[in-house]
Amino acid sequence: MHATAPIGRWAVYVDAATGEPLAREQLLRFASGNLKINAPVRGPNGQRLDFAAANLGVVVNGAAAVTSITGAVSFADGGPANVATTVLGSFVAVASEAGAPAATQLALPPGGQVTWIASSDEFLDAQLTTYVHADRVKQFVRAIAPDFAFLDQQMPAIVNIADICNAFADGETINFFQSDAQCENTGRIADVVYHEFGHNVHFQGIIPGVGFPEGALSEGISDFLSATITDSPDLAPGFFKGSDARCASSTRRAPSGTSPRTTARSTTAGGSSAARCGTCARRCGTSSAPGPGSRRSTSCGSRRSAARSTCRACTPRSCWPTTTTAT
Ligand SMILES: [Zn+2]
Repeated sequence: MHATAPIGRWAVYVDAATGEPLAREQLLRFASGNLKINAPVRGPNGQRLDFAAANLGVVVNGAAAVTSITGAVSFADGGPANVATTVLGSFVAVASEAGAPAATQLALPPGGQVTWIASSDEFLDAQLTTYVHADRVKQFVRAIAPDFAFLDQQMPAIVNIADICNAFADGETINFFQSDAQCENTGRIADVVYHEFGHNVHFQGIIPGVGFPEGALSEGISDFLSATITDSPDLAPGFFKGSDARCASSTRRAPSGTSPRTTARSTTAGGSSAARCGTCARRCGTSSAPGPGSRRSTSCGSRRSAARSTCRACTPRSCWPTTTTAT
């Protein structure tokens, strides 16, 4: 028998006595291939990688489909499939406030792969990078909290906003700014995407009427999530153009006879809640020696709506001390 949704041609075996279906065999032969998206591993001036275009909405040879978590799609066997896609997926929907909306058509060979690359275009690369890393951070958190319903929603991710040197989350969305002479486009920095999503995890995890968002705790949670995924104490390398040395905590070692908590406290007075609690050995602390942007570190106020709690990203200047040498 023939089927159209999904497409199939089946041989169905039935019980000779009752007519009950017993087994079926797909007679069509399908091919599959993997869709990739090229994006920075951390930031646009560092290593890049072809990531699986996971959970992405696509149109394959005219039929709507969603890629698997490995970026795989199936199609009728034969020649290369035409894959049309944007940056709208099951769990992340990227929108851009500048430049052309990201969209492409790619030829995907049977048994092969094809990669969407826009590394030379800031606004396009920000859209692709934010999609890749927003989906990755949702997968990461799902492994920790599989029943966390917020993860199953399609989260808006707004990139290329006409502002600079920051990013923010509001509990529902994540938002990223354009580049300028000083700062990189934050939508192109994996660590910032992870960090902003961390704020949403915090906000969404609060039981209404029982808890409330606490800014310093939220920053600590978000930094810890980001640093855990990257397995690095350097948050957002390349955030500032020309300098990606942001945090030297990886070289910190507690003096003999002291605990890491003691070291963290002694070197980051006024540091983040994560550092004060000693829960985050990777964390550098906050503005014991604030730089010019330090005001941002506490600007956890509303940007777009007074009713919504928004919180801006930590930046190197706003959050981290200029001296990180432990003694
Ligand atoms: Zn933040």
